[in-house]
Amino acid sequence: MEHFIKTTKEDEMINITHIVKEDLKNSNVKNGIMIVYTPHTTAAITINESYDPDVVIDILFTLRKLVPKNPNYLHIEGNSHSHVKASMIGTSITMIIENGNLKLGTWQGVFFCEFDGPRKRKFFTKVIGEK
Ligand code: ZN
Repeated sequence: MEHFIKTTKEDEMINITHIVKEDLKNSNVKNGIMIVYTPHTTAAITINESYDPDVVIDILFTLRKLVPKNPNYLHIEGNSHSHVKASMIGTSITMIIENGNLKLGTWQGVFFCEFDGPRKRKFFTKVIGEK
């Protein structure tokens, strides 16, 4: 499934767990794997804590410190820090499906990570398995 998402900040992590679970339900797949992928070079997909919203704020804070904006980057577009963050986190995740449910931990959620917003973005989900 293709999904569009409108980000509103320069960097943010948006909880997309409910969208991903809806796609799994609609697929009717009971056992298999599910992939979530984003086709961008300055955005990413990750799994992390969705219970305490301060966790993603701390992750973004840490990434800003680790990969600051730098006028000495060669890339003429001026957003190399965004590209580096996207590569650090990665463009996709794979999850296990068992008895129609994602094998996510109690505190885990799926996040779309924006590193060069605000922009109109998209991500894909793909479910592979037996019904
Ligand atoms: Zn660029």
